[in-house]
Amino acid sequence: MSSPDTTSPDTTSPETPGTPGANAGPGILDVAAVTEAMRGTSVQGIGYRELAERFGTPLYVYDGDLLTATVTGLRRALHPALEVFYSLKANPNISVFAALRAGGARAEVSSLVELRTALAAGTEPENILFLGPGKSEEELAACLDTGVYAVVCESFAELDRTERLAAARRIRQRVLLRVNPALAISGSRLTMGGKPRQFGIDEAQVLAAGDLTTRYRHADVAGIQVYLGTRILDAGVLGKNTRYILDLAERISAATGIRLDAVDIGGGLGVPYFDGEAELGPAEAGREINPLLDAFTAAHPRTRLIMESGRYLAARAGVYVLGVRYVKESLGERFAVADGGTHHHMAAVGIGSFVKRNFPAVLLSDREAGEPRPWNVTGPLCTPNDSLLKQAELPDLVPGDLLGVLNSGAYGPSASPGLFLSHGFPAEVLVTGGRAHLVRERDRPEDLLRPQRLVTAAGPAGAAVVPAADRGGLPR
Ligand SMILES: *Cc1c(COP(=O)(O)O)cnc(C)c1O
Repeated sequence: MSSPDTTSPDTTSPETPGTPGANAGPGILDVAAVTEAMRGTSVQGIGYRELAERFGTPLYVYDGDLLTATVTGLRRALHPALEVFYSLKANPNISVFAALRAGGARAEVSSLVELRTALAAGTEPENILFLGPGKSEEELAACLDTGVYAVVCESFAELDRTERLAAARRIRQRVLLRVNPALAISGSRLTMGGKPRQFGIDEAQVLAAGDLTTRYRHADVAGIQVYLGTRILDAGVLGKNTRYILDLAERISAATGIRLDAVDIGGGLGVPYFDGEAELGPAEAGREINPLLDAFTAAHPRTRLIMESGRYLAARAGVYVLGVRYVKESLGERFAVADGGTHHHMAAVGIGSFVKRNFPAVLLSDREAGEPRPWNVTGPLCTPNDSLLKQAELPDLVPGDLLGVLNSGAYGPSASPGLFLSHGFPAEVLVTGGRAHLVRERDRPEDLLRPQRLVTAAGPAGAAVVPAADRGGLPR
């Protein structure tokens, strides 16, 4: 483990370049150095032990300064015309988003609550995109009433509905068409193009749609969005995607008559989770896509160029901290049964891969640790799937030890079955400027019981399980 102080604001603040390395340049974050620094036992000089004592475990800890620096570092490496929109689905916590916004991130949202989160954090409507395949009438109405920069329409039916709602309000609402590209580009862990999908409108259908500017008068179609996949770690793939999308935008504009107010090239930049995966350096990404964007802006100087990113911006800055409750052996394997599990961190199960692969994890206890040996780290759920780490090389564990699962700032609690076994969601803490703040309270038993209604054949219909006067929780 590296020294505890390596995550101090000095290595990660927006104004200070990371340690120069293969992927760094002036002002560009050295992502590999930052990842290494996250293996320490403290964040911004505050020990995880202290955070665990203050806030309890299991716990998500986010380095707010690193969140800000990640956005700044990415923006410095990429073409100045490219705007970075944060996909709130990766981590919808409002303070996490605020830290990203401090680095210049704008908002890409997909639900009413995400929209309200972005607005509550101070995002200007012209820096909000609303996207998603099944928008409700209520969500579309909220977009129009807010005046978001654009609604990304994913079907002609949705475009018709947007047209009708905008007409009723006598306004014009900018719309980007999400296009399902005809071509699949390999290199992403989840390929979006070239397949039948609920997302977007097939490229061929858009190209054959005729003059969209006369067909829609209130839904002002003025650009396209394409999202070609997630967990991209290869800059060459990013370049291929971008080249294809920019060319597609021009072809669609020519075929349908639409203006190109904005072209959203998607994103899906990855972070390495598993052995053998290499960092996608921001400088490397810039080298691939900047020349393409340069040529495009020369031809279309008024077009907003947009990149969406969730995982890349949030993952590195988050650590899932859990406490070891029991250690035991079963048929020759060591188990540490911890207070946290896959109900908070489903991604660490390694869905989608045939063989279980472990997220990077470290012992956070500040003590002399022995030689690493293989450990299974499991949680409190009554299923064998509640396995965070399988045969991970860790020093000998004892009850009371703290473990940290790294690269956990994206697709954590919000993408996990937090209600399984009614454990509820963990507390979340953001460390910023050297101070730790609770940014989400841990669910209490009464929080989980309150929405439920007790109905029995004999009893009163729909009695509240937690009476309004009793917030105390446990039955006496
Ligand atoms: C989920 C999603 C993103 C964010 O993806 P990451 O891989 O987390 O960067 C961006 N755009 C769209 C359309 C998405 O669905």
